[in-house]
Amino acid sequence: MPRLAFIADIHGNLQALEAVLEDLRMVGYDQLICLGDIVGYGPDPAACLETVSDYADAIVLGNHDEAVLREDVSARFNPRARRSIEFTRDELSDFHLAILRSIPYRVELEGISVTHATFSPTRFEYLYTAQAAADAFNYLPSRIGMIGHTHLPSAFTCNSDAEAVEGDVRVYPLTGGVLNALDPELRYILNPGSVGQPRDRNPDASWGLFDTERMTFQIRRIAYDIEAVSRRIRDFGLPEQHGHRLRVGA
Ligand code: ZN
Repeated sequence: MPRLAFIADIHGNLQALEAVLEDLRMVGYDQLICLGDIVGYGPDPAACLETVSDYADAIVLGNHDEAVLREDVSARFNPRARRSIEFTRDELSDFHLAILRSIPYRVELEGISVTHATFSPTRFEYLYTAQAAADAFNYLPSRIGMIGHTHLPSAFTCNSDAEAVEGDVRVYPLTGGVLNALDPELRYILNPGSVGQPRDRNPDASWGLFDTERMTFQIRRIAYDIEAVSRRIRDFGLPEQHGHRLRVGA
């Protein structure tokens, strides 16, 4: 089962999710893994949750997914994100909530550790810096980890098998279409970017294809109907800022 497709941070954006699934079918894959944050921000949390649970072979829980289930978590969100969580709670049925409750924080498959944000006990810390990534490597039980959360397609490498420090880690942004061959000497934490709310100034939906046989990782970027999603965001009375950031990819 060498071709693993990774999707992350869908955030209730059904148009982006459907465009990515179409591309996945075209490219071909053996297993689909979702790195969490299926809901939050976007106007179609129920349909996204149903679609992901239909198609994905494995799912891990994101902080927005968790916030739907936990008032103490959503209370710490900024007002716009919290507004979307309240909307999401209204949109989801007991069936959907049961799906969310069944999702683990972490899975291990094909030698890859999969979680939403980081492997360290901070759980939902953002991996932007070499220091944060070094901490994550020190809790990563395998050579390769896969995460989402920052909405930035990226690779972190670590040249140490022992306790990693900041200087052992490199951070690379990843560009769509490039086939990145993994160096067998290094450990990796990879991020396929975000399906439903990219933040790397490229508004196209992002997903990642990891080939466990060839040991390659490729980011794919897919255009979709952003204006249709922005209209739905407005029609549902969600913060317009959520639509605007889709247009600029931030
Ligand atoms: Zn997210």
